[in-house]
Amino acid sequence: MKSDIRKIKNKLTKLYKNKNWQDILKNRRNAEEVLSIYFNQKNRDLLRNKKLFPIKINPYYASLVNKVDDGIWRQAVPHLEELYNPNYLKENFLNEKSGLFNPTPCLLHRYPTKALIFVSNTCFGHCRHCFRNYSKSSVPANLKNIFLAIDYIDEFNKVVDGSKNSFIKFKNKNINRFKISDKYILRHSKNAKVCIEQGDYRIRDVLLSGGDPLMLDDDALEKILKKICNVKTIDIVRIGTRCPVLLPQRITKRLIKMLRKYSDKPIYIVTQFNHPAEITPESIKACNLLRHAGIYIKNQSVLLKGVNDDIKTLKKLFEGLINIGVDPYYVFHPMMAKGTNHLRIPLWKGLLIIRSLRGYTSGFTIPTYMASAPLGKGKVPLPEGILEYSIKDGEAVIQNYEGNFYKYYDPIGYPMPSKKELKKLFSFAIYKKIIKEL
Ligand code: SF4
Repeated sequence: MKSDIRKIKNKLTKLYKNKNWQDILKNRRNAEEVLSIYFNQKNRDLLRNKKLFPIKINPYYASLVNKVDDGIWRQAVPHLEELYNPNYLKENFLNEKSGLFNPTPCLLHRYPTKALIFVSNTCFGHCRHCFRNYSKSSVPANLKNIFLAIDYIDEFNKVVDGSKNSFIKFKNKNINRFKISDKYILRHSKNAKVCIEQGDYRIRDVLLSGGDPLMLDDDALEKILKKICNVKTIDIVRIGTRCPVLLPQRITKRLIKMLRKYSDKPIYIVTQFNHPAEITPESIKACNLLRHAGIYIKNQSVLLKGVNDDIKTLKKLFEGLINIGVDPYYVFHPMMAKGTNHLRIPLWKGLLIIRSLRGYTSGFTIPTYMASAPLGKGKVPLPEGILEYSIKDGEAVIQNYEGNFYKYYDPIGYPMPSKKELKKLFSFAIYKKIIKEL
């Protein structure tokens, strides 16, 4: 079997070695065929199941698979359990396309001081745990709409000072260009009060997202960055991309040269390494190129069952990231996204893992543990944001930054904590109230 794996890896390597990123992507179908040698009949049927999202894996990422159901496989290959969906698992868990906070088709402006622009609707792969799986393709991400979103931010920052009057003035002035709902004004006026008390109210932080922004070619990306950099009131640009993980060959010297031109404003790459096997010579080279160009790299992992839900794997991942100059700043509890029950873990497990790392590795190696509140109501730090939690019922109540409460559910089918794990949970005083019922 070991020699079979070597043969498969050799075939996959030929499909990506010394090739540019566009050609590697073109070899996707071949990679899936090579990878299918791993598939038994049951798994092959899965690939033909039309109810599941199709597999989309390029030869580089496929070559990281070492065996069926390992941490790379589970992130990339369909699973029949994707069809098992209790009703709290939602297609659009963050409610990104409700229209209420989308004053232009590509813009999502929900939180004070920051906004997200959808600049692409495709990715380098198809992550099985993605909360945008059901909505990516509906994003009309063309340059015209992207520019309109940037114009919106420019205009907003010039006119809106946080007062309700300034919002109304802004709305009336732009009635034919932008779609500004009353709920949008209400939410932002409420948040504006706090921001003004804290000294500033404007969109200062812009996140390019999608899909994956680096699926755009360098010229298109440059046009967008150039326009953003012309808006004086924007302070920082973040690019949310999984390319250092899924296709690090995309980070070329040409791309770096272009990014350097716009580094007057700090550029942050926000990426998502989830497993130590994703740290390879290729991904290290990509991160080095970015770092040497003065670009900051932040990582947001997601805790995933069978991928990284154990202390040893996560420690190796976070320490590996620190070693290559990537800041492992967030680790996310899995969202309640449709099709992901089999990849989710319960809150107790996440708390136990993250807490167990403390004291056994450098402090800055341990990311902040976060959950995303349903409907896009903000990120909640854990365990501080947990108000109630019953391990037995798998139900929790979390509280967001505005003081609102939301229910969070553990996945169905995950084993209950062992005696050893319970003992460990009890030994952390902070968790005592959470598990007192057991
Ligand atoms: S790269 Fe990001 S947006 Fe694209 S499928 Fe993966 S998790 Fe989703």
